[in-house]
Amino acid sequence: MKKLEGKIALITGGSSGIGLATAQRFVAEGAYVFITGRRQEELDAAVRLIGQQVTGVQGDVANLADLDRLYEQVRQQKGHLDIVFANAGGSNGMVPLGAITEEHFDQVFNINVRGLLFTVQKALPLLRDGSSIILTASTTGSKGAAAFSVYSASKAAVRSFARTWTVDLQARKIRVNALSPGPTETPGVTRLGDTPAQKQFVKDYIVANVPLGRLGQPEETAKAAVFLASDDSSFITGIELFVDGGVAQI
Ligand code: NAD
Repeated sequence: MKKLEGKIALITGGSSGIGLATAQRFVAEGAYVFITGRRQEELDAAVRLIGQQVTGVQGDVANLADLDRLYEQVRQQKGHLDIVFANAGGSNGMVPLGAITEEHFDQVFNINVRGLLFTVQKALPLLRDGSSIILTASTTGSKGAAAFSVYSASKAAVRSFARTWTVDLQARKIRVNALSPGPTETPGVTRLGDTPAQKQFVKDYIVANVPLGRLGQPEETAKAAVFLASDDSSFITGIELFVDGGVAQI
């Protein structure tokens, strides 16, 4: 029996990395998925890769008009949602404290915090009672990471949202959990390895912080997303599930 048979899911940032791997997994488990991403070409390629049971909707989660258009399309096509994986996000690179600009702060918080908040809020009318909401946070939200203070603070907000929204939505029995990857081999992270210094940083970080001694694979986070989306986690809400090779534990 497939774990998500007949479920309708939305995955923001579903055209790359963790979101794309999760979309593939959700479809393999019987779900229909809507995926979003900002770049049309990347989104089209992801839709082709997933192949079936998928619709791509281009848009920016930080743009409320894009979110309205997305949910109108979901409403017209399927009428409801069972799963929202609010996953779109990013760090905008390494920026030490002294170099943080207003622009950097606004960009990161606009996507990771404001965009995620309205992604979930605007999904509420379409979500069935008993649905599952999964928020992509990060180990940095609890541990921090050198030169990622704005990103880390934004992910601390995300893990906090999971706890409060669990209570806010209790009357509807909607579960809300945070999913926190550690360093994972996605385009978002391999882009960091553009210069020899950054490559060295990633290597050093793994040695110092990852008990399992390697980067995670997007598919490993996707398996945890299936768990949180499915009835296998039916009595689990308000938690933060780490998929991080032990990063958050040391
Ligand atoms: P990625 O860069 O491979 O993919 C990011 C996806 O998000 C893309 O589909 C992109 O189009 C989309 N996206 C980014 N900004 C968007 C916006 N404003 N509106 C709509 N879509 C947008 O990145 P990834 O590594 O798979 O990251 C996915 C999530 O996991 C992010 O929230 C990231 O912060 C988090 N995360 C990643 C790691 C890691 O090591 N890869 C670790 C912890 C947390």
